[in-house]
Amino acid sequence: MHPQLELLLEIQDLKMQRRGLADGTLGAVESDVFDIRVDEALQVLDDKVGELEGRLEDNVRERYELVSGKGPRVVAPVLNGICYGCFVAIATARSSEADRNRRVESCEYCGCFLYYVD
Ligand SMILES: [Zn+2]
Repeated sequence: MHPQLELLLEIQDLKMQRRGLADGTLGAVESDVFDIRVDEALQVLDDKVGELEGRLEDNVRERYELVSGKGPRVVAPVLNGICYGCFVAIATARSSEADRNRRVESCEYCGCFLYYVD
């Protein structure tokens, strides 16, 4: 897989985690069972996201900033030739290439970076 794509997936995962923490859907982090407080955990996540964002190449970061302004999802999985960011079929010529995850591609409809699963 393209290292920038890996980086984007990592950033997205951390941001999803942050979102779950911030809105409480991940559960009671402040309970005695856990060794970390929510605000500390959020800070740790923010720092890491910032660090990873700093490693994005300029052209990738430009698109990333554009897409991440719309929501937490920046990388969309592609299954059976359908972008699951916008549920539109992408050109089959692109989706059937063998080295597809070795390049950084984005959906021409929703702008998400594409990650081919099938
Ligand atoms: Zn799309």
